Amino acid sequence: MESPEDGNIMLELIRNKDWSQTSLGEPEHWPRSLKVGLDIILHSGYPMFIWWGPDLIMFHNDAYLPVLGQKHPDALGQSAREVWAEVWGQIGGVVENVFRGEEFHARDLLMYLGRKGFMEETYWTFSYSPFRDDNGAIGGLFCACNEESAKIQQQRRLSCIKDISSLSARYRELPALGEATIKVLEKNARDIQFSALYLRRDDGLKFDLVAGSKIMGSAETFPAELQPLVGEGDEDCMIDHLQKSRQIVIADDLEQVLEEVRHEDGKPINSVAMVPLLKPGQQEVTGLLLCGLSPYLEMDDEYKNYLTLTAAQISTAIADVRSFEKERKKEIALARSEKRFREMADNVPLIIWVTDKTGRCTYINKQWGIYSGQSESMWKDFGWLEAVHPEDLEEVKTNFQYATETRTPYTQNYRLKDRAGNFYWHVDSGLPNFDENYQFVGFIGAVFNIHEQKVAEEQLKEKEEKLRLAAAATNLGTWDYYPLDGILQWSDICKEIFGIPVREDMTYEKFLDALHEEDRERTDLKVRAALQGTEHYDIEYRVVRRTDGKERWIRATGQSYLNDKNEAYRFIGTAQDITDRKLAEEQKDDFLRIAGHELRTPLTSIAGYLGLLQRMIGEQEKTRPFLDKCLQSTLKMRSLITDFLDISKVERGELSFKMETANFSAIVKDTIDNMDLAATRHVLDLHLEPDLYIYGDEERLEQVVVNLLSNAQKYSPKGQTIKVQLSGSKGRIFFRIQDQGIGMQQKEVEKIFNKFYRAASGSKVKGMGLGLYIVKKIIDYHNGEIRVQTVPGKGTQFTVEFPEIEPS
Ligand code: ADP
Repeated sequence: MESPEDGNIMLELIRNKDWSQTSLGEPEHWPRSLKVGLDIILHSGYPMFIWWGPDLIMFHNDAYLPVLGQKHPDALGQSAREVWAEVWGQIGGVVENVFRGEEFHARDLLMYLGRKGFMEETYWTFSYSPFRDDNGAIGGLFCACNEESAKIQQQRRLSCIKDISSLSARYRELPALGEATIKVLEKNARDIQFSALYLRRDDGLKFDLVAGSKIMGSAETFPAELQPLVGEGDEDCMIDHLQKSRQIVIADDLEQVLEEVRHEDGKPINSVAMVPLLKPGQQEVTGLLLCGLSPYLEMDDEYKNYLTLTAAQISTAIADVRSFEKERKKEIALARSEKRFREMADNVPLIIWVTDKTGRCTYINKQWGIYSGQSESMWKDFGWLEAVHPEDLEEVKTNFQYATETRTPYTQNYRLKDRAGNFYWHVDSGLPNFDENYQFVGFIGAVFNIHEQKVAEEQLKEKEEKLRLAAAATNLGTWDYYPLDGILQWSDICKEIFGIPVREDMTYEKFLDALHEEDRERTDLKVRAALQGTEHYDIEYRVVRRTDGKERWIRATGQSYLNDKNEAYRFIGTAQDITDRKLAEEQKDDFLRIAGHELRTPLTSIAGYLGLLQRMIGEQEKTRPFLDKCLQSTLKMRSLITDFLDISKVERGELSFKMETANFSAIVKDTIDNMDLAATRHVLDLHLEPDLYIYGDEERLEQVVVNLLSNAQKYSPKGQTIKVQLSGSKGRIFFRIQDQGIGMQQKEVEKIFNKFYRAASGSKVKGMGLGLYIVKKIIDYHNGEIRVQTVPGKGTQFTVEFPEIEPS
């Protein structure tokens, strides 16, 4: 105590205090040992004190001042009994023992001290030891102490927070988590006297109670809901404040509200903290924790931090549980939607399947069972492959594996066995399936029966292949037209024939352009008719080749295919260059025409001279029969040549008619009279109605009668009857020639009017197959008709019908 020292508050106070008024008296009379002790404590940085004498006069150092709180500076020189009256019941006995020579040690001892104007919960580690006076007797008590309040409080708070953080691992539902949280908080009643957990509703308007502790001293439970901005109660305002500030709100004057609520020692609790629960990482208030605060603690930063951390832990646990609940809900929803999917899938007429990410089949709808007869245990995983056709199996496996590995959509055609063991073509399409986190979960696919389509396709392919081969072998061009898409495909040969570069794409318009001007419209009409399916396409037209500008004759044939709407979706056919044949035909026609003319002129004069000779020689001459035969042959030859000439005329459209009113009855009668029918000894049965008039060419009509009658002669045995009838009825003339000859097969009848056609039955008889061809042309020209009735071996009847006219 020698020298004054700056800043040593207690040293200063001791020096300046008037000790004369105390039981200790002036310092110069104090025992030396006390002075030495004071010297020690006043220079120590640790809280220390000496209580001296029976009155326990208090001496302490600066480090001890926080322990005294408001009791400083009055405490100096006072009796410890009075200064520490609040704890004397706890320590008085111990102090007495120290004076009896006993030392005392305490560790983390709880003491409620009134140093801050309220009874404060504090913890102490200290030792009391006897302090001897100059005579060696115990003159006082020496104490070195340390406050442990902060340490103890921190420990219990940390352990509380830890306990809360472990809750989310154990609880999966909100109410249970809430209960457990409150239970944990109840264990730390020194900090939180009571608590209640509220969560904000989805609509954000109200807070609902999840769980609350039992409020001590009160039967009351917490309100089931709190609502901000409604009413004017304190708690409502607090909630508004809390929502805005997102900070702890503390209400101190709740005695009214929490009237009956007491601390366990009976002290009323009048401070409540509302701690916001914030969504982790965000600013949104999702709930609040209502905490009854300890009346024995100061609301300092540590206390506040503890509450904030507790709320944060609770928020995290709630978020965990909520996301777990969400997951569960999703799982349930997924299970439900899967169930719905299956119900739907089972009722569609398709085979639908699902695989997992390893490619194992986890689901096939009922249709599969119906088709294949496989049960679930059979098709499961890779069992369904059993039904794949052995020839397709490898490919199916490879494609499927590839799609699964690359997670790409796939489509393939293969054959599947039905329950009866028959294979049918199917198309199988699969799509990779991803969950909401874009994770691949497998494939979903559908299988569709395409057997009929596939078979038809194959047949068409086969046809096309045959056609292609045939075309290549015969220099036949082929084309393939898809009218609905406007696509026209031409084979190289086809392009070659038309003089179009092989690389060039074709269109229908280009095709028409390539045609000879005069044939264009006619061809277009033919194509249109063919596309309507009404006509077979078979046409000859000219093209002007683009490469050399030359004209070529083409023969094209084709077939159209209609869809169910009766539209042609495809039109396939061939094209062949027939220019050479056409030329040959023309040359032949020219030759026939010229030759015919050249031959007919001398024959006509021969026939004339023979007629003259006939008349000159007279009936009796022996040479007469030879002359007759000679004349007959000449006439026959002339008629053949006429036929030839007529043919070439018909071909060129040059057959000429001299039309006038003609007596058809007379034509028929004269013609028959002039014909030498006696030579073949046929019996003629004539029924001719006279004076039936017709508008026509006499000579050509004569040709008709001659042809039909000589056919009847040629194709029926000698001596048979030939019946000739001519009659008129209702403006029509009917001319019938009926023989009892060899007849014809029915199927040949329609062909006998074709050029050069000869029926099989008449093959032994000479002929050129031209007569009826010309006859038909003549009858057509006269607006007439010709019909045939025939029975092989029994005979034939030709009926010619003309319109009758009035004689002029
Ligand atoms: P052709 O010179 O061969 O007689 P046509 O054009 O006159 O030529 O007759 C064509 C074919 O019709 C004949 O080849 C013959 O097979 C058949 N035909 C014509 N008329 C008769 C008939 N009256 N009886 C049986 N067959 C006939």
